[in-house]
Amino acid sequence: MSEKFIRIYKKFYIDEIKAHLLIYGDLGGNCAACHKMGIPLEATRCPECAAEFKYIAFRNPRVHMPKILRLQEERPEILIIDHEDYSRHTGEQKARDFLK
Ligand SMILES: [Zn+2]
Repeated sequence: MSEKFIRIYKKFYIDEIKAHLLIYGDLGGNCAACHKMGIPLEATRCPECAAEFKYIAFRNPRVHMPKILRLQEERPEILIIDHEDYSRHTGEQKARDFLK
């Protein structure tokens, strides 16, 4: 039997994700809560605002697949969320806040 990634759909509060999210791209990780940059993938907390990372979003999951595989081995409790989904919803939220 071989294990493969299957993406799932689950409802989340975007604010809860944002408070505990590391966004990982080519230049390293960003804290979604305070926007601190250059955070290593291994970090369990933000060095700036001390947010605990429970979620990770990869900007380019295809490129970072080896990292994703290792992360799942080492920290199976962490949830990997889809970056596109996250940025679409935060974009919608920004638009709504702007119109208030
Ligand atoms: Zn932070």
